[in-house]
Amino acid sequence: MTDNLFTALPLPAALVANLESLDYRQMTPVQQQSLPLILEGHDLIAKAKTGSGKTAAFAIGLISKLVLKQYAPQALVLCPTRELGAQVATEIRRLVRYQPNIKVLTLCGGQPIGPQIGSLEHGAHILVGTPGRLIDHLSRQTLSLNHIKTLVLDEADRMLDMGFHDDIEKIIRNIRGKRQTLLFSATYPPGIRKLSADFQKNPVEVNVESVLTGNKVRQLCFEVDEASRSDALIRLLEHFHPASTVIFCNTKQICRDVHDLLLNQKFSALALHGDLDQSERNQILVQFSNKSCSILVATDVAARGLDIKDLQAVINYNLFPKPDVYIHRIGRTGRAEKEGLAISLYRKKEAHKLKAIAELQGFHPELKTMASLPELPATSIVPPMVTLCISGGKKQKIRPGDILGAITGEAGLPGSCVGQIDIFDFHSYVAIERQFADKVLERLTNGRIKGRSLKVRTIH
Ligand code: ADP
Ligand code: MG
Repeated sequence: MTDNLFTALPLPAALVANLESLDYRQMTPVQQQSLPLILEGHDLIAKAKTGSGKTAAFAIGLISKLVLKQYAPQALVLCPTRELGAQVATEIRRLVRYQPNIKVLTLCGGQPIGPQIGSLEHGAHILVGTPGRLIDHLSRQTLSLNHIKTLVLDEADRMLDMGFHDDIEKIIRNIRGKRQTLLFSATYPPGIRKLSADFQKNPVEVNVESVLTGNKVRQLCFEVDEASRSDALIRLLEHFHPASTVIFCNTKQICRDVHDLLLNQKFSALALHGDLDQSERNQILVQFSNKSCSILVATDVAARGLDIKDLQAVINYNLFPKPDVYIHRIGRTGRAEKEGLAISLYRKKEAHKLKAIAELQGFHPELKTMASLPELPATSIVPPMVTLCISGGKKQKIRPGDILGAITGEAGLPGSCVGQIDIFDFHSYVAIERQFADKVLERLTNGRIKGRSLKVRTIH
């Protein structure tokens, strides 16, 4: 199957390259069904659940229509809540970062309106906002929607539930000229039908039932004995070569032992267990999620609430006595419609645990023996990124754009070498493609970020 690759779409190469750097290669079903239509300029009404990848679907559509030289809002995304607005804006910023001149502005409540007015005066290409705040700007005449070419109603059913119908109507009446209207909703109550009938032209309907869930996980169980457990782990990592793995251990002590074992074998690994303070924990999660560390060894307690995207494999170093823990652990891989891999090590006497797992999920994991794995030459797993820590954060008013700007502007390096940026109160982390890391470190050390020279160091 190649028609579900972003490369099959008529999109600028730089945009596709950036998608690839975000590890978006295959389109999710809603993207696959809607993007060709969106790119052809159709109005669209799409029914899709949360977590199906709608943001990128409409974002890629609206980005591809922007005229950069025109510093007037050309796309407007309406969202029901501030939180969703912020999420959508973050996702759009990630998707446009190959093009540093695209300005994305959020116009949500809960923020002072003054700076928003200032930003609007400076010009923005893409607006993401909640209906209430947009109405506020319209009535103050601080916002003109004359150049909007794409209007997105995200989670339209929720906006109606929240009583935004009249506001939405008022906002749309302020948009003059020809526009494409994209309506996304998880349900189709009559209000949505009416909204569509009132404001869309010959909309094409797209219906996607599936959600990005962990149902595409290949489950393999390898029988080991206590003496061969650690060797088996190393061989499995070398064999499957996952780019990112969480290894679950039943206790803190096992977690430490496995971490030591991996470091001795020159793997890039970090251990997450209950004895860490919050800042150590943050740093580890940053390094793992920004792809500068490929293996996280964790206890269940420490991994609680962990939301790491694009996890390729989960390894159960030990089976947990309760089967629901197994389901919970492996649910962290195979997201975003990618096939995930769940590997478990078990002892013969633990067959009853496998039986309980099979009963709970309705099918058996595949049983394998280590002997069935072909002997392969060992290859190392090198994480693609390196994390730099910068001695300035929120309290110094550092924003991701300042860091990106210092790297691409003054230091003259391509924005595509910059990965995830995380800003904490007093320091920030930025992930850099491995081959550029030394150069970026050197340039940032000798240069300035937001007019200051800040300390920068590599984290291992
Ligand atoms: P929705 O708006 O439908 O609730 P989102 O747009 O928030 O869903 O996407 C859900 C998650 O899937 C996000 O973490 C996003 O980064 C990720 N995602 C979206 N499209 C892709 C893709 N093509 N490949 C991989 N991950 C994707
Ligand atoms: Mg969404």
